[in-house]
Amino acid sequence: MSDAAAAAARRAVFLDRDGVLNVYLPGDYVKRPDELRLLPDAAAGVRALNALDMPIFVISNQQGVAKGRMSRDDLNRVDAALYEALHAAGGRIEKSYYCPHGSAENCACRKPKAGLLLQAAEENGLDLARSFFVGDTETDAQAARAAGVGRFVLALTGKHPDEAVVRDPALFPTPPDFVAANLSAAADWITAQVINSP
Ligand SMILES: [Mg+2]
Ligand SMILES: [Zn+2]
Repeated sequence: MSDAAAAAARRAVFLDRDGVLNVYLPGDYVKRPDELRLLPDAAAGVRALNALDMPIFVISNQQGVAKGRMSRDDLNRVDAALYEALHAAGGRIEKSYYCPHGSAENCACRKPKAGLLLQAAEENGLDLARSFFVGDTETDAQAARAAGVGRFVLALTGKHPDEAVVRDPALFPTPPDFVAANLSAAADWITAQVINSP
């Protein structure tokens, strides 16, 4: 990145999808638009983040593609339905980055690796150190750390609804910077961070 590009680098908010924006289906995948259910606070959370004028990117593993449970077209249709649902509620997401690979493929993009975040940063001129990631799993926290994302927020709306679990270093070794009841609470905390260090 040139000095000029680095100077213009924007901070961003990265969101995991399942368990942050929409209801997480344990042991299953959101394979079709009719299986996508937005979490109750998702649109309000996205709107609050939009008000900060930081672009929002979805960063999501979708191993169901590699497993043949859905096609890449199915994934694109679910993605379009997510945008439609959020847009109808006044929320805006910039772009989604998905890893469609299986865990055995050893790709560079499957979280906990940093690949998707690094790609998003490269393509959109983002300052990762000043950016935020909201996720619901240890894998999200590890990816954020591996990519050098400044702050990680754990949302309790997905895989780990119990705050005691994510506060326990034995169960959750990558400590979150903040634990949020939902995306709206995460957006409130991120707003406070941005006001404190513009
Ligand atoms: Mg998730
Ligand atoms: Zn991948």
